[in-house]
Amino acid sequence: MMVGIDLGTTHSLVGSMQSGFPILIADARGERLTPSAVYFPKSGEPVVGREALTLALGDPERVVTSVKRQMGMRGKIAVGGRTWTPEEISSRILKKLKSDAEQSLGGPVGRAVITVPAYFNDAQRAATKRAGELAGLSVERILSEPTAAALAYGMDRLDEKSKVAVYDLGGGTFDVSILLLSAGIFEVLATNGDTRLGGDDLDVALAREWDVPLRTAEKIKCALSETSEFAHEGRSYSRSALEAICRPIIARTRKNCIRSLADARVDASELDAVILVGGATRMPLVRGFVAEVFGREPDASQHPDEAVALGATIQAGILAGEVQNMTLLDVTPLSLGMETYGGLMNVLIPRNTTIPCKAGEMFTNAVHNQSGMRITVLQGEREMARDNWKLGEFEVPFAPLPKGRARVGVQFELDANGLLNVLARDTATGTDTVVKIESAVEVSDEAVEKMLGDSLERAFEDMDERIFTEASLKADEMLPAVASALEQLADEVSEDEQSALASLVGKVRAAQAAKSPPQLKAALSALDEATQPLATRLIEKALGGRQ
Ligand code: ADP
Ligand code: MG
Repeated sequence: MMVGIDLGTTHSLVGSMQSGFPILIADARGERLTPSAVYFPKSGEPVVGREALTLALGDPERVVTSVKRQMGMRGKIAVGGRTWTPEEISSRILKKLKSDAEQSLGGPVGRAVITVPAYFNDAQRAATKRAGELAGLSVERILSEPTAAALAYGMDRLDEKSKVAVYDLGGGTFDVSILLLSAGIFEVLATNGDTRLGGDDLDVALAREWDVPLRTAEKIKCALSETSEFAHEGRSYSRSALEAICRPIIARTRKNCIRSLADARVDASELDAVILVGGATRMPLVRGFVAEVFGREPDASQHPDEAVALGATIQAGILAGEVQNMTLLDVTPLSLGMETYGGLMNVLIPRNTTIPCKAGEMFTNAVHNQSGMRITVLQGEREMARDNWKLGEFEVPFAPLPKGRARVGVQFELDANGLLNVLARDTATGTDTVVKIESAVEVSDEAVEKMLGDSLERAFEDMDERIFTEASLKADEMLPAVASALEQLADEVSEDEQSALASLVGKVRAAQAAKSPPQLKAALSALDEATQPLATRLIEKALGGRQ
């Protein structure tokens, strides 16, 4: 049997299709929401869920929560006398959900669809898939959370054509996606987000401001979603005070919303609905903010905790052939490419490309009898290779041939899970090399957040750097060419001409040294123009020599 799983930062859920309907499964205690907490007792098997949180009251050192924030990272987690990878800990949560489902369904569960934030990168998705496998599940699809929520929303609106936005603010992550729903086809047009922004950040700010423990802050926060005043331990807290503290944090989602609309080429006024999901969207402040950004009242028809799990279950139904009138076209949230000359990012698959997809590029040997070249696979939106995630590095072998004769194709294949496979083919020998992408990236959470923020804020700086690098490469090519032309035409070029050219060459060198993109571009085009007659004369000379 196949289940759908929402593996959340704070809570996880599991569901299965029953008589054509997605149904969420309760555990032995009758609860559908399982806290994503794992407790490691002094002896015996780890304990998962509500019980883990209860045990943790006695020994908080032995519990791991919010492990999702560390998925795809190389760091290990030390708890209960040994170290664990984030996916090992996640697999414990998945094992519990699997066994709860087996209890309830009365049979083995071997396959699953698992959701991830839309903005998860390749390493984070791959780690989630491995966690499923460690739990004994064949992971049939890694599905984006806002897309799952849209499936749940659209399931009973299949005959309508509409454009919707999904605003998903959970405990640890924020995603926004724009979708086109038409005749059962769910097409994601664009997605954006912040893998480090959620309700937890509000708790931290409130706890600091009010000088209370985190748990107390969260409790007051949730209470103030229902009432405008709340008393706790003799102190009174008001919604308006809470909103003043939380507003700047919620406002950080604005740029992601605007960018997703721009990427989708959809104006906010064209949207038919803005769907809210994630526990934090229960806050009146968030609802008001969403209404302001999108210029319409949001749609709160979906259960904020359950929509994602229901969508995962529907996707399981689609894959199992139980749901036949729905099709999903998702996108990759981040661009994929490789490093090229000068440390630049060369994009092969731009962000928001529909998956699955393929893209390739041909390479040749720059050197006679060269036997290979190094390829670095990158993911991200920055212009310079070093500012993106490095997913892997590999050597493409060449059959030794004269310069420019070897032909090696590199193909990027992005599967329906958003997971990348890289293939290198030597067309001379027909040899294929399947490249294994590294499973984890060596970056901290903060680095991830910074990179995403930076790509929005640094766009102009980045462009400058790219222009400069490209111009600089051109200069490196042109200067020796000009020198060689002058040598060959030594007798035919007047002294005036020579000194004019020398001064132009000097300007190019100066601009290169000054690292000024506009100056370098200008100097290069001046040199280019001035050397045109030289090129003509060189050609004439060559032709003349032959006569
Ligand atoms: P995740 O998918 O990341 O596990 P959830 O969608 O379960 O997250 O949302 C959890 C977040 O929602 C937590 O930060 C929690 O404090 C917050 N939350 C839940 N209920 C409310 C409420 N009534 N008011 C404000 N925040 C809430
Ligand atoms: Mg969630």
